[in-house]
Amino acid sequence: DKRRIYQFEVTRFGAGDRLVFVRDITKVAQLEQMRRDFVGNVSHELRTPLTVIKGYLETILANADQLEPRYVRPLQQMDQQAQRMENLLKDLLWLSRIESVESLPKHERVDVAALLEELQDEMQTSHPGRRLNLQLDCEGKVFGDYRELHSAISNLVINAFKYSAEDQPVTVRWQAREGNLALSVEDRGIGIAENHLPRLTERFYRVDDSRSSQTGGTGLGLAIVKHVAASHQARLEIDSRPGKGSTFTLLFSPA
Ligand code: ADP
Repeated sequence: DKRRIYQFEVTRFGAGDRLVFVRDITKVAQLEQMRRDFVGNVSHELRTPLTVIKGYLETILANADQLEPRYVRPLQQMDQQAQRMENLLKDLLWLSRIESVESLPKHERVDVAALLEELQDEMQTSHPGRRLNLQLDCEGKVFGDYRELHSAISNLVINAFKYSAEDQPVTVRWQAREGNLALSVEDRGIGIAENHLPRLTERFYRVDDSRSSQTGGTGLGLAIVKHVAASHQARLEIDSRPGKGSTFTLLFSPA
């Protein structure tokens, strides 16, 4: 039946015998689709009123010298929080979009080295004063979606900046490794204790809530990375030592 969705699980036992479990997960998949659609629709609907609020705040703050001084600080804080909300909605919309196209095959051949060079230029503008080293040791391409790969890698780089000191560099490497292509983002920052690793890529999971909300993150960055990895059949590996730094690696099959 083409309208139903099945999950197969094969267990080996004894002398080459196999036991196959077939589960009908149609209902679960439908509920999951409803959740995605709901999150996508709500995010979309919230953007319009937020744009109006932000627009007025911007106009008012452009003439801050005409305001009563005691209103300036609260209005600036409102403006900052509105910006946070906009970032959150943008990430929520993007996540629901990539989740719903996850199963589609990716046909585009992406030149990762060129993508990284472009990203380096963008980071110079958005994060002046931070050093992003590129080490491009291979020219391999991967089958993928340029925008999705770009968003995953930039989330990793921005995290590396956020969770390390200003004067510490971040290094991105692109290398061939045992038949795979490895993209790694390495920082010398605060690192992550091992007990947090299993849940790190969950939506809104944070190691230290107060620190993360200060850094202006949405809590969705690694959830986006995880989904992009899954839709590109790439493996995400996290290697981290508290106080020393972290390396996030995406392992792709070559195109
Ligand atoms: P956030 O917006 O809070 O950064 P993410 O999903 O991008 O959300 O990351 C989840 C959590 O993982 C962060 O709150 C942070 O605690 C931790 N984390 C992510 N990247 C790093 C890193 N490079 N070094 C240390 N901790 C990190």
